[in-house]
Amino acid sequence: MALATMVFFSCKNDKKTSDNPFFSDYDTPFKVPPFDKIDTTHFMPAFIEGMKQQNEEIDKIINNSDSPTFDNTVLPFDKSGLTLTKVSYVFFNLTESTTNEQIQAIERKVSPMLSNHNDEIFMNAKLFERIKAVYEKRNDMKLDDQQIRVVEKYYRDFERLGANLPKDKQDSLKKINEELSTLTTKFGENLLAENKNFQMVVDKKEDLDGLPQSSIDAAAETAKAKKLEGKWVFTIDKPSLIPFLQYAKNRDLREKLYRGYFMKGDNGNANDNNDVIAKIAKLRVKKAKLLGYESYAAYVIDDNMAKTPEKVNEFLAKLWEPSLAMAKNELVEMQKLIDKEGGKFKLQPWDWWYYAEKVRKAKYDLDENEMKPYFSLDNVKNGIFHVSGKLYGITFEKLTNLPVYFSDVETYEVKEADGKHLGIVYFDFHPRDSKRGGAWCGGFESAGWRDGKKVDPIVSIVCNFTKASGDTPALLTWDEVETLFHEFGHGLHSLFTEGKYNRTAGNVPRDYVELPSQFMESYASEPEVLKIYAKHYKTGEVIPDKLIEKIQNSSKFNQGFTMTELLAAAILDMDYHNLTDPRDLNIKEFEKQAMEKIGLIPEILPRYRSTYFSHIWGGGYAAGYYVYLWAEVLVADAYEAFKQSGDIFNKDLATKFRKHCLEESGNGEGMDQYRKFRGQDPAIEPLLKRRGLK
Ligand SMILES: [Zn+2]
Repeated sequence: MALATMVFFSCKNDKKTSDNPFFSDYDTPFKVPPFDKIDTTHFMPAFIEGMKQQNEEIDKIINNSDSPTFDNTVLPFDKSGLTLTKVSYVFFNLTESTTNEQIQAIERKVSPMLSNHNDEIFMNAKLFERIKAVYEKRNDMKLDDQQIRVVEKYYRDFERLGANLPKDKQDSLKKINEELSTLTTKFGENLLAENKNFQMVVDKKEDLDGLPQSSIDAAAETAKAKKLEGKWVFTIDKPSLIPFLQYAKNRDLREKLYRGYFMKGDNGNANDNNDVIAKIAKLRVKKAKLLGYESYAAYVIDDNMAKTPEKVNEFLAKLWEPSLAMAKNELVEMQKLIDKEGGKFKLQPWDWWYYAEKVRKAKYDLDENEMKPYFSLDNVKNGIFHVSGKLYGITFEKLTNLPVYFSDVETYEVKEADGKHLGIVYFDFHPRDSKRGGAWCGGFESAGWRDGKKVDPIVSIVCNFTKASGDTPALLTWDEVETLFHEFGHGLHSLFTEGKYNRTAGNVPRDYVELPSQFMESYASEPEVLKIYAKHYKTGEVIPDKLIEKIQNSSKFNQGFTMTELLAAAILDMDYHNLTDPRDLNIKEFEKQAMEKIGLIPEILPRYRSTYFSHIWGGGYAAGYYVYLWAEVLVADAYEAFKQSGDIFNKDLATKFRKHCLEESGNGEGMDQYRKFRGQDPAIEPLLKRRGLK
């Protein structure tokens, strides 16, 4: 089937080959993609040709009659698939940021083809045989450290995908993978249906009491779209749910809406996920066992910095006690408020946001609208340029001569202190219908080496920030400010990456990824930094000390709750994936017992209950929800080093951080790289302090 499709496409589009920009070197400044010449019809032929080229490259490796060496096997494999990489960079950036029906159709067709292509490579017995031969002799082949590391990484990749198993076990594994992918898809479909099915219609104006106007307007618009004009419709999507929980005075409606949310996938209807999850959990244990691991968590974490599930469990347990204690204090404070107001009830989960908001106002008197004028997009952008410049000496210059994929995309050249070219950054700031939600950092080229020449990185940062309106420039919320710093931290990681081999350059484990980003984010709220970039867009007045103080103080607000719900979810994830025998689970019971075991208070639910925990059942975070907190320990510890030195821009430390944690991040194991920078293991105390837990 796949083959037939490929032939069809390659015939149909043959005439396009000559002018297909993916088939030759980009003829643009800094070799950026020639977006003005790329047409949707170029993608499929380039994908097909790219896969064909890579297959030919692999055939050449396995048909070589010389005995396997690094240079005739591992190196050409590492460098294979250039055309495929080129078209993938452009295509998969566009599917996220400027998609359309044509692109979506190509995506549906090409995704299974690519996954199949990948399987064929990693299940290619002859290729594995040659890689294995090099692996076994790696210490006697006069290879340097990096070459040995590349060989070991590839060997492990093959092994982890089942290349080392006997034929019958490979067949079982393929079958399990197939079942898992079907179940995972089913999980997502059920959730989507549940989301769509729930709505809360409000028809009495007094039931909107307490809500901000923006929330009321949005609900009226949703009602209109659903042909319920004159009423208000609230959904369980976060932008509708959270303000309602924070501000709606009607307690019964808060409960109704929150129930709609936390019962997702657990309603005993056609979209119930209990059974789906039980099957996924069971199959994962089987898969791990086939591959020689005790549990699925052991399989996943073996590849991470943490190395073992025990280490993760221990880490989470350490944070759990102080977080829960703090949440209990927050609860006491809110209950006092309820009692004082004469409310004769015990706080319930759907009351938490409402009373927390009241405490926040009373304690910190912080209003978002008071802050926004100081955070115009241009000023915040200058803030990240300033911080990057002070830490690493780099400079930024706006370019106007590069082709872009959408009119308001901005491009910058990044240069070293000595003026040497470092890379290019694309910024795509504002929402549009063709862009998915959220913010992320991607790119169109990775730093590396090709044919003995250095390849410079091309980074892309995509956000969904507030737009300018009328005479008012784009003014960012505090959350957006932090997001820009965060994504730019990922960007710096890509810009600074060095390394000769694709397999290792900048290639870090999952629980390392958020170190560069969260590190950069730490600078956003630093008073010394705020005073440089946070200036009133009208008057140019520097942000007042009083406001800085409020921002700083409120950063520890409600952290007991935030940490507790996050940790509860991370622990639940670990419990599912620590299972060592493939048994039939009763999901409701399992979740209940897991939460009872750690003493979670009934006023707080895990951030995701089992039946809608997409990270672990649908996404790539199985036995991996802990990574956000894990990276935050490193970040807090790293930042502490700067603070202790008395200079948050300490040149010496910045140079070390850049070298070991950014440039050479993939050269060694994550923790070793970190130790090279810090000279010691990270301590957990700085995180506890930062979160207000100590
Ligand atoms: Zn991130």
